[in-house]
Amino acid sequence: MVVQAGLVASLQAVRDAADAVDGGVDLPPGAVICGGFSDHHLHLLATAAARRSVDLSTARSLAEVGDALADAARRTPPGRWLRAWGLDESDLAEQRLPTVDELDEATAGRPLVLHHRTGHLQLRNRAAEAAGAPDPLPFDELAEAVAAVGAELLANGITAVTDATHTNDRTALELLDRFRLPVQVTAMVGAEHLHGLAFGTTVGSVMVGPAKIMPPHHGLDRVAERVAAAHRAGFPVAVHAVDIDELQAALDGGLGPGDRIEHLGLSLPEQLTELATRRIAVVTQPAFVTRRAAKYHRELSETEQGWLYRLRSALDAGIELRGSSDAPVVPARPLEQVAAAMTRTVGPSERIDVDSALGLVGAPLSVGAAADLVVLAEDPRMAARTDPARVADIAVLAVWRNGRLLVGDERRWPGRTQA
Ligand SMILES: [Zn+2]
Repeated sequence: MVVQAGLVASLQAVRDAADAVDGGVDLPPGAVICGGFSDHHLHLLATAAARRSVDLSTARSLAEVGDALADAARRTPPGRWLRAWGLDESDLAEQRLPTVDELDEATAGRPLVLHHRTGHLQLRNRAAEAAGAPDPLPFDELAEAVAAVGAELLANGITAVTDATHTNDRTALELLDRFRLPVQVTAMVGAEHLHGLAFGTTVGSVMVGPAKIMPPHHGLDRVAERVAAAHRAGFPVAVHAVDIDELQAALDGGLGPGDRIEHLGLSLPEQLTELATRRIAVVTQPAFVTRRAAKYHRELSETEQGWLYRLRSALDAGIELRGSSDAPVVPARPLEQVAAAMTRTVGPSERIDVDSALGLVGAPLSVGAAADLVVLAEDPRMAARTDPARVADIAVLAVWRNGRLLVGDERRWPGRTQA
């Protein structure tokens, strides 16, 4: 492969040292070079904020939730807000959320805002109710957390992301631009905030993405009107659809080619056909199925399990499918998504092969594309032959963005690529 001026100039192996303008890359045995991964739906600021919060995502009982909060309260001066994140009652032995009394007891008078794992629910204790709105994170603290998120994305081989936050407006895009993340950022714009923005243009370094429509927030009966307004403004739309009713509202709302469905949590066979016929893309989260397997096995019938986060049947129908983490809901680890897509135990007939799974998170290298490159310690195709689950743990050895080395040792890998 030859890289010039940050672009892939040729996919031929370099044989003549004279061709190697900027030095060459010798891959270790078994390693493979491929295009950088994309995460097509995540929430950058929420992921950064989660890093500044008490992590309740691993709690398995209300006692563990209480202990984690009490521990954080002891380390927090009175009057300062406590933030917590990641709680999902379906993971708790008690199968319920904590009561306000339980939250009060754990937090020793500190105001607490607790974000549910889904991001769609907030709990507050009585001190928080009395204190009003939480203090925003100071800019420096947020910037530091965003930088850590950026480094983590790169370390997982991600070179491009789409922020799917439905509250995004011009100010939010300007804020994202200020952080100068090391990955290419496309940001969706909330359907009611399109004014003054144009799809496909940039706000600083941030690409303006589709209009985001959240039926639970905007109203199921108002989806059609939002879609029409976005299309008139020149935006494709991305509609959140976790259940069958939300998906039907999206379909009734007049989606077409270029538009996309976010999640496709549950879909009926006839809805899948409709998506394919109308050439609507789908952005799915394969790791939801593996990480929530116990809940889905428990709560869904076998038929419903086959309708859940479809992969095989969506690809067979001809639907363009992309993968994502929805971070902070699950970590932004593309190779975990690849492994999950191959190994899911809920609706196992929806498993896909390694090439299809890799296609969810990356595109083949092509001449003229940005030299966003990743070296993996092992070829996922080889690993998948013996143990597909192991693909999740393949190490990322080096990452270049636009031909510039951003992850990896400079002494081992050239600062500018030539492989
Ligand atoms: Zn999301």
